[in-house]
Amino acid sequence: MNPEVILMKLGEVVLKGLNRRRLEDLLIKNVKTALHGFGKVHVWESQSTIFVEFLEEDPDIDGAKIALKKVFGIMNLTVAYRGDYDWETLKKQTADYVSFALRRAKTFKVDARRSDKKYPMGSPEICREMGGHLLSKFPHLSVDVHNPDVTVSIEIRDGFAYIHTNPEKAAGGLPAGTGGHGMLMLSGGIDSPVAGYVMAKRGLKISAVHFESPPYTSPRAKEKVLTLAKKMSVYTGPVDLWIVPFTEIQEAIRDTCKEDLFTIIMRRVMLKIACKLAKEKNARCIITGESLGQVASQTLGAIQCTDAASDLPVFRPFIGTDKQDIVDIARDIDTFETSILPYEDCCTVFTPKHPKTNPYLDEVLEEEAKLDLDALTANLALEYVKVKPWD
Ligand code: ATP
Ligand code: MG
Repeated sequence: MNPEVILMKLGEVVLKGLNRRRLEDLLIKNVKTALHGFGKVHVWESQSTIFVEFLEEDPDIDGAKIALKKVFGIMNLTVAYRGDYDWETLKKQTADYVSFALRRAKTFKVDARRSDKKYPMGSPEICREMGGHLLSKFPHLSVDVHNPDVTVSIEIRDGFAYIHTNPEKAAGGLPAGTGGHGMLMLSGGIDSPVAGYVMAKRGLKISAVHFESPPYTSPRAKEKVLTLAKKMSVYTGPVDLWIVPFTEIQEAIRDTCKEDLFTIIMRRVMLKIACKLAKEKNARCIITGESLGQVASQTLGAIQCTDAASDLPVFRPFIGTDKQDIVDIARDIDTFETSILPYEDCCTVFTPKHPKTNPYLDEVLEEEAKLDLDALTANLALEYVKVKPWD
């Protein structure tokens, strides 16, 4: 048996009352998915803590910790040593296990939690006795109960004494998939993969739709989107991605509608197709990376006209966020370098020289009515890809 386990404290999940069981089950499933490739594991929950035990020899615990820090719904995590109930053994195990941390510290405290009420010592007694023992072993230390460099935690529960030091901050948020299902409009840009990431962090399961216009957009543009979806899926979990052939529709808009309304009409059609797909797949909202004023198609007037094409709520998590702040998250989640590769997106194909920045819905609808949208969108041959973080 590996003596080390990973302990994870739940975040907002613990506030969820009746739904809690369902949320915890999904979180455990997400934890197992994140540990794909780390050998056989046993994952279970007890008293607001999720435990991971490694069932194979010589596990990559540091790697597993990095993977688990990307799972939404976990507030913090730590590697713990599974020590014995026997007090003399536990004192030795504790001094050995925390010696690395304590040698580098000046101050410490012991924090004890006794969930097993049959254990012969109470929490204050454990703190006092273990504190005294550690002071005798590491005489350079002093006790600071308010702001110690190292907190040595002893958790007595389920037949073991779990020993660990300062837990590390994890991803927070709510477990992906516990808050419903959204359809992300995924371009090859910076903002949309990050939008998928932040909405998964609020509990959504993320599917995605991408529009491509070959031969105006290249196969490499599509590869880029697949890479972005894969990088995003490290956080969101596996993603169902649909790729929509958009060339004919774009050509029809170019040939039929006023040039200065081209972009807005194109975006409305994209949204209509995304909504139809979302409803077929039981997704109940659309997610985009739009940000007010970022480009001509994201002015208030443009957004009002685009929004009116949707019969699902459109979540734009960055509507009030500066580009630089989105870029910072993109760097953190490792999508940035892919996003800035130069391949052209369908949105930049046929863009008008002077797009209308403040369009009104009635003029847009009038222009759009010239298109036979039912015929144009009737038999689109969508390509489906299941995107997994480990493929
Ligand atoms: P991004 O926002 O992804 O960085 P961008 O800033 O170039 O791309 P726009 O081209 O204005 O933004 O698009 C705004 C939003 O529309 C995107 O965030 C994305 O949600 C959606 N979108 C744009 N192009 C596509 C596409 N080819 N397929 C799917 N969705 C798209
Ligand atoms: Mg953008």
